[in-house]
Amino acid sequence: MRRISIFGATGSIGQSTIDLIRRDRDAYDVVALTGGGNIDLLAKDAIDLGAKVAVTAYEDRLADLKSALSGTGIQAAAGEHALIEAADREADWIMSAIVGSAGLAPGLHALRHGTTLALANKESLVTAGPLLMRSAQSHGARVLPVDSEHSAVFQGLVGEDQSEVERVIITASGGPFRDWSLDQLKGATLAQACKHPSWDMGQRITIDSASMFNKALEIIETKEYFGFAPDQIEVLVHPGSYVHALVGFRDGALMAHLGAPDMRHAIGYALHWPERRDLPVERLDLAKVGQLRFEAPDETRFPPLRLARQVMEMGGLAGSVFNAAKEAALDLFIAQKIGFLDMARLTEEVLNQMSTDVSQPQTNMSLDTVLAADKEARARVMALQTKQ
Ligand code: NAD
Ligand code: MG
Repeated sequence: MRRISIFGATGSIGQSTIDLIRRDRDAYDVVALTGGGNIDLLAKDAIDLGAKVAVTAYEDRLADLKSALSGTGIQAAAGEHALIEAADREADWIMSAIVGSAGLAPGLHALRHGTTLALANKESLVTAGPLLMRSAQSHGARVLPVDSEHSAVFQGLVGEDQSEVERVIITASGGPFRDWSLDQLKGATLAQACKHPSWDMGQRITIDSASMFNKALEIIETKEYFGFAPDQIEVLVHPGSYVHALVGFRDGALMAHLGAPDMRHAIGYALHWPERRDLPVERLDLAKVGQLRFEAPDETRFPPLRLARQVMEMGGLAGSVFNAAKEAALDLFIAQKIGFLDMARLTEEVLNQMSTDVSQPQTNMSLDTVLAADKEARARVMALQTKQ
């Protein structure tokens, strides 16, 4: 039996992971499940899967979790410290699907035990890519990509020599505002940003898809995970989301990865890697799809794409600042305190404010320096916001 843990088990990726586990329950020994405020779901899944421990991120929900698990023999725990303890429990495969930079510390701890970390939490790579990948290497651990585009590139590289890759193209659906003008974007509401045309995801990544912050994070994720140079990484808008990524080789060949927009493919690939197994995903009927549309991305209407290039050029802790400023600005947008375009404006301002401090060589990077940059960037977003 494979020992597995799922961080962010109650979220969209966590639930898709549990769906796959449930279909083959006897193959897995579930160690830890973690969640946030949805105690009922966390407890239900922990009981159903026979987890050893269930952890809520919120200390003030511990009593509720304890009572939901009473008499089951499943341990209940809460808070950041408990998340780390859960990450320190031996497991063969761990899903990292907490949203935001809160996923970094548990992921780093898990890697120290030489485990396989299936990484949905792209913020870990944006915030501390060199730290994460170095840690995996030094502990003989493996990071497997779960983001659909990165899983697609990973699959496109099987059996290939990466030095023969000329470019990689990650696709973007374009989100709900793909053809909106700048003026329209200025007035985009929370409800409008929460409606994704092709993917069903958590609220934060859905809004990030509408602003293209998600694609900006993914550009950086591509650089950090695979080590491609920034100018080898391209974005292509592809409404429909059938082609997830393409890998271009020195002879001009482009290998595309296609599939239905269902995260259970990328999760399942990471779960069974290096094998392929049957997965309960819709098979694409291309005759029915009929046409595949592609468009160039627009960095004027979607400035995060431009900012991603700036972050890669800056290096150092720029990724931590970029991600944290974006997270803080997203909180403000969700609280309806700022407009849609203010998210990119505030993020850019904080990135520029902190540019000389953060563009240091990456050998200085540690969890402490990353968390300090993250904290300062968030504080600066709040300061800019209250000044207005
Ligand atoms: P979600 O909001 O649906 O779920 C997030 C999970 O993290 C929940 O279990 C929540 O309780 C937990 N969580 C939230 N804040 C936390 C904190 N501070 N500490 C500990 N736990 C916390 O999010 P999601 O859509 O499942 O996305 C999860 C991750 O996967 C994100 O990094 C996202 O970018 C990435 N991802 C998601 C998709 C998708 O289709 N949903 C696709 C690619 C990548
Ligand atoms: Mg993606």
